[in-house]
Amino acid sequence: MEFFEGLFRRFKKQERVQPKPEQRQVAAKDAVSLWSYSYFREYLRSLASHAFAEEGREKFLLPINQYPEQIELSRDWHTLFNHMRRETALDQKEKWAMIGLKIDDPAIYLQKTAITGLSDAVPFHIIEKTMMHALKTSDIAERLGSIHTHPRDKTDKSWIMPPTPTNIGCGHFSLTDMFNHLASNNSKMYVFFRPVYAVVEGNENLVILISQTTDYKAQSYLPRTRDQFVEEWYTKNGWKYDREKTDEGNGEYATPMTQRKETPIKDINIQIARLYDLAIYRGHTNGPLIRVFPPSISTLP
Ligand SMILES: [Zn+2]
Repeated sequence: MEFFEGLFRRFKKQERVQPKPEQRQVAAKDAVSLWSYSYFREYLRSLASHAFAEEGREKFLLPINQYPEQIELSRDWHTLFNHMRRETALDQKEKWAMIGLKIDDPAIYLQKTAITGLSDAVPFHIIEKTMMHALKTSDIAERLGSIHTHPRDKTDKSWIMPPTPTNIGCGHFSLTDMFNHLASNNSKMYVFFRPVYAVVEGNENLVILISQTTDYKAQSYLPRTRDQFVEEWYTKNGWKYDREKTDEGNGEYATPMTQRKETPIKDINIQIARLYDLAIYRGHTNGPLIRVFPPSISTLP
């Protein structure tokens, strides 16, 4: 824990200094397979303390091979996830909530009441308005990321889902989600730093965390627009992407091409994670987050 304690002290002092090389080595040696919630919380706090550093913030992010196999979440996280899950099941509309950090508060800020969007997206202008309001009215110092929901009835109909009785294990990030997360963390595009991106879908909680090399890789290969990115990934995986139906902030429309040879979206998520060094976690209701990418040594073929 020495690494995180060091970072925590830096944060308390509000210093904007770079980590020393020996601290990075400690981080690598300290890699463990399970993070308690307090470990996860301190990691997020250490990232937030350098969110707006122009150079070097990536040094605080873990290399992709250092993320643990499991992350425990606190009761507050599960309460919010479950609230959003319930509300979405009732009206089949996406919900959105901000994750942030307050000055002088060790807890991670989680927006208590999620905002409601449409059945396939929460429009960007509503998200922007909510964030601005939160930044003005509460003492939130940094934005760490966001949580949004996918109505399972909608995704069942729109995308190919393996026929399991519960659909557990089918939840995924839309390709628009993947683009938004990569773009928002790409220092050449939007310069927002939001290392956590979470989706609640059906009985699952999904989380993406960026790694030390994500920004560098996104600068090298990320298409300039969401449409280019989404179309490229769909078409090379056997889907037809319909640009005409896809409006800004209103989801994405893709249909299978032929003979159901399309790659399931959750597997396209993994392909994208592999290219950009993203860690993907999946957990069930009230359960810990389990890493699905990079795969554990024991689950490799
Ligand atoms: Zn989404």
